[in-house]
Amino acid sequence: PYVITSGCIDEKAAECVDVCPVDCIEEGPDQFFIEADICIECGACEVACPVGAVFYDTDVPDEEKHMIQKAEDFYKS
Ligand code: SF4
Repeated sequence: PYVITSGCIDEKAAECVDVCPVDCIEEGPDQFFIEADICIECGACEVACPVGAVFYDTDVPDEEKHMIQKAEDFYKS
């Protein structure tokens, strides 16, 4: 699935929410999150994000890897 990284924090442009065909992007306290189990990996959110904060999970830069866990934690709570 795709992952939203720290570029989203306090930016929250929300363009991704409108383009997601399965409506799996949700607003959190400080950023948006993608629900991994529902994401169909279409890539629309990656293209739509004005700050380039969305990456395919295996392409997430090393310094942003913790954002994968952050999204998992968001959906666990
Ligand atoms: Fe939604 Fe597609 Fe982005 Fe997955 S890759 S979160 S399905 S827009």
